[in-house]
Amino acid sequence: MPDKRDYYDILGVDRRASKDNIKTAYRNLAKKFHPDLNKDNPKLAEEKFKEISEAYEVLIDDNKRARYDQYGHAGVAADFSKEGFTWRDFSHISDLEDIFGHDIFSDFFGRGSIFSDFFGTRRWGFEQSGKSVKRVQVEITLEQAYRGVSTEVATPHMETCADCSGTGGAKGSVAKTCENCKGKGEIQQEQLQGFGRIIKIGTCPVCGGRGKIIDHPCISCHGSGEIQRLDKINVKIPPGVDSGTTLRVQADKAGGRLKEDIYVIISVQPHSFFHRQGSDIYLEKTVMLTEATLGSKVEVPTLDGNALMKIPPGTQTDTLLRLRGSGMPHLKGHGYGDQYVRVIVRTPKNLTKKQKELLEEFQTIEREKGIT
Ligand SMILES: [Zn+2]
Ligand SMILES: [Zn+2]
Repeated sequence: MPDKRDYYDILGVDRRASKDNIKTAYRNLAKKFHPDLNKDNPKLAEEKFKEISEAYEVLIDDNKRARYDQYGHAGVAADFSKEGFTWRDFSHISDLEDIFGHDIFSDFFGRGSIFSDFFGTRRWGFEQSGKSVKRVQVEITLEQAYRGVSTEVATPHMETCADCSGTGGAKGSVAKTCENCKGKGEIQQEQLQGFGRIIKIGTCPVCGGRGKIIDHPCISCHGSGEIQRLDKINVKIPPGVDSGTTLRVQADKAGGRLKEDIYVIISVQPHSFFHRQGSDIYLEKTVMLTEATLGSKVEVPTLDGNALMKIPPGTQTDTLLRLRGSGMPHLKGHGYGDQYVRVIVRTPKNLTKKQKELLEEFQTIEREKGIT
């Protein structure tokens, strides 16, 4: 995926921006990039319009925004189509209607623009509320991220309630046809607008799409007809993953008859002494004054076990030494990052008489050399 711009930058808002700030920013930008106001370069305007709408889709939604704040674009990738954000993933058409009035449809869609995704008898409510992408977070250690790991994760799935056989009604309860939708479970709204006719189809809010209203709901499922169960799926996590890495896993559903995509978002626990930056690992190593001065070989931990590291004579404290190839494996491609060891030179304390004499002698010679 090419480098994507930061959503906050796109909307020009602060990371702590309130929802009102975000709404206002989107409103202003939407007006600016309205393709009808950018007739000299409508293609660019449409692209910009799509970009701000994607940013808005994420930042206006608390849940998506939290995932984006924590994991960046990877945290919300599963909310969008495979190829990235498309207009089908935009669930705030009504906000655009508020901004432009209902004419937004005839204006945009009459011209066969990219907005034509919106046009026609798109199943509004169903596509948006019915779109269920399963996401599960897995926490692993840095060592597991280094070697890769197979692990089992639990994902919730809905199952027909056994107590009511999915009807949602308690024993002896009566189901009446929903009057709001005449039992169809969905509502159609037809609007004549500009050049076109829009038919919006949405879930009936009264019966929740079931078409029936139950007088005594089932206690086990609270009338929904479904109960949540946990599926266990095996996930193979490849070496080199980092926090925010998202894996798409296919899980068996309904006893293997159906396949379901599950997005596994990796979270790597911080390590007590290894610090990771991309594929590189950073470590601090304390050495004796004499080791740093005279040069030596010291043992340092790496994710692949202990390694011998050469400290050159005259090494200053805070020097970064590199152990090539001792970092994390590259998730994509081959090879490994490096390990950087920050050398901390320890000043000796609690000297014996002899040590003190030696250091005083050392000091005398240093001063004679004229070096301070
Ligand atoms: Zn039930
Ligand atoms: Zn209804």
